[in-house]
This record gives sequence, C-alpha cells and structure tokens, in this order.
Amino acid sequence: MNAPNMQTADQVIANTYARFPVMLTKGQDCYVWDDQGRRYTDFVSGIAVCNLGHANPRVTAALQKQAATLVHVSNLYYSQPQIALAQKLVTHCFADRVFFCNSGAEANEAAIKLARRFFQQQGQTQRHRIVSMEKSFHGRTMATLSATGQDKIKKGFDPILDGFDFAPFNDIERLQAAIGPQTCAVMLEPVQGEGGINCPDSSYLAQVRTVCDNAGVLLIFDEIQTGLGRTGKLFAHEHFGAVPDIMTLAKALGNGLPIGAMLATDRVAAAFSPGAHASTFGGTPLVTAAALQVITMLTEEKIVEQGRETGAYFKSQLLALKQRQAAIEDIRGLGLLLGARLNVPALPIVNRCLEQGFLVNAVQEKILRFVPPLTIKKEQIDELIACLDDVL
Ligand SMILES: *Cc1c(COP(=O)(O)O)cnc(C)c1O
Repeated sequence: MNAPNMQTADQVIANTYARFPVMLTKGQDCYVWDDQGRRYTDFVSGIAVCNLGHANPRVTAALQKQAATLVHVSNLYYSQPQIALAQKLVTHCFADRVFFCNSGAEANEAAIKLARRFFQQQGQTQRHRIVSMEKSFHGRTMATLSATGQDKIKKGFDPILDGFDFAPFNDIERLQAAIGPQTCAVMLEPVQGEGGINCPDSSYLAQVRTVCDNAGVLLIFDEIQTGLGRTGKLFAHEHFGAVPDIMTLAKALGNGLPIGAMLATDRVAAAFSPGAHASTFGGTPLVTAAALQVITMLTEEKIVEQGRETGAYFKSQLLALKQRQAAIEDIRGLGLLLGARLNVPALPIVNRCLEQGFLVNAVQEKILRFVPPLTIKKEQIDELIACLDDVL
C-alpha cells in the first residue's frame, strides 16, 4: 500500500466532497499546516467547530486523561463526564435536560422526534408537522434534509419525507400563515449559516416565540452553527430575547470531537421515557470529557466576550474593505459568524486566498464565510483583509 495521498483518496473514499487539494497535517490555535510545511491562517475552523482553536492544550489534556481512563460504556450505565456536561449546559441556558448524540443531524432528529412525541403523548396525533424556513440547513439524514429549505440538498433523494412545511425566514406573517392545526413545532436557526449568514430583524425571533405560543406549538432553535460563542453570546438566541422549548447543539461543542446535544425544558423533555430514543455512542465519557472542558472554558473565561470584540473589529474592517472593493455587495453576520456577499462567484476567491495562506470558505455561490476560532487576533484579521484586498 502506498502512503495515504490525494490520488488514493479519490479511489477509496466516497465521492461526496469537492475537496481543496491540500493535505492538512497539524494545527495550533488559529493556524494549520499542510504536508509541504505551508502554514495557513484558519478562518474556517473545520466549519465553525474549533472555536477554541486547534489542538487546544486544555481540551487535549482532558481528552488524554479520559482516553487513558474510560472511553465508552454505552448508555446502559452512568458515567460522570456525561452528567457533569449536562449539568453545565443546563446551568447556562433555558433547558433542564439534555439528550446526547454524535452530530448536528442527529441532534435535530432527536428534536423532531421529541416534538412529535410531545403531542402524540397528549393524544394530539394530528399535530405532527414542522414548519421550517426557506434557505435553512438542518442536516443530511432523511428527516433533516427533508426539514432543510434548500432544493440542492434534497435533489435525487425522493421521496422526501412528509411532515415539513416552509416559510421564508424573517417574515412573521408568512410563518403565521404556514402554521396550521397539524403543526407541532417551528424549527429555525437564529442566524442562518449555510443559507448565507442571514440575520433576522431584531424583533423577529421574539415574534416567532409569540406566534408559537398563540398557536400552542413548540419552538426549536437549531444552534448547531450559531451556538457556543460563535455569534458573541454563548447562544445566539440571547441576542434576540427569545427562548425556545428545544435547542440543538453540535459543531463547536467538542471543539472537533463528534458530539451533538438536544436540550429541552422539563415540560417538553417529559415526552421522552426509557426506550423512546437512544444512541450507542451518545455522550461517551471521552467526548463528554472534551466537551466539558470546552463549555467550562467558554463560560468561565472571557473567550466569548473576546470573540464578540474581535468580531466587531472584523466586521468594521470588512465594511471598510467593501468601501474599496466593488465586488462586495454587503457584509453580514454577528460576532465571528461573518459573511461577505459578492457580485462574483466566491470559489475563485476562496482558491486565491488558499494560495496566499488563508482558509476561508464559500456558502451559496457568492458568499464568503468567515468563522475563525474565537481566539483569532486582530493582526491575523488584518492579514486576511490585506489578502482579500489584493485578491478581489
Ligand atoms: C452543520 C449543521 C447541521 C448538521 O450538522 P452535522 O454534524 O453535519 O450533521 C445542522 N444544522 C446546522 C445549522 C448546521 O450548521
């Protein structure tokens, strides 16, 4: 067998990703290196995952300790890191209970199942439909792609699962009209990530809460991308004064370890009883020990505040760049979840940035997304801005 290389990858790995021709071999905080020894400043963070930077020493230490102690036991038994993580999470948000799984899609699957079961337990079996948003992204499993408001994600996978209706994001009247006697929940991202870094009007989420309350339906916030400090608050919904009944987390929760979580109030979570839902790997000692370290650092240190400040600086520099560069149509986002909508395709720009030693990525066809670790420095932002100035 030859050494693992890109040519072999194209023969043995399923052809589902259009990868950049770079083999990354190591990371440290906001930098990653390729196998040629080239360094890149990372404004992708493994898609908003490594919020505490690559190879964070304290997460690594927690992981090493737990790996040498107990990795997995299944949920037939209790394990301490899982309990400690759930305690920490519920202390810092509206929720009372947590279900652990392994990815964002699985967290949303759990949310969808809980919303349906909540009403079915009350005998309201007709209430099983979920209203989701156009341009939303909720994952790639059959239920979560069916909940996703983007045709390109669903193409070729018919029949799409029934049970999902759609309303345009940020349009409270259309949402109201989409909710009917069969609706059990409204599901949305507080800021749409994959859909183009779309921010709601400041009052929209509170209005959504009111509409849900009036209709007697549950509200689910998918904070898989926006959560855990990404937008400058621990959870993005804190910016908008709206509290959900169910929230899903994944991406940054393990700083790169695969973990998802579905959080809910006691009232709603009571619809789950033993046997209702499960995951073999959900909340293993190993991943929950890492995530416990992540949430401890995010809540006890000033990392989220620091990210909020650097995010404001980053946004101001992007807005200044827009003044100089006609290819930029607008700058969008919150905290360190930022985007630049271009009037030219974004992919060639991404490739030029890569050549110059910066990882950025594109969402939709013409939007550049910037999601660096929350530990990114102003100087590193300045360097990216200079690169963009040149490339554009
Ligand atoms: C990434 C993402 C998901 C899916 O997460 P996976 O871990 O890839 O399954 C779901 N919702 C949102 C908002 C996301 O950004």
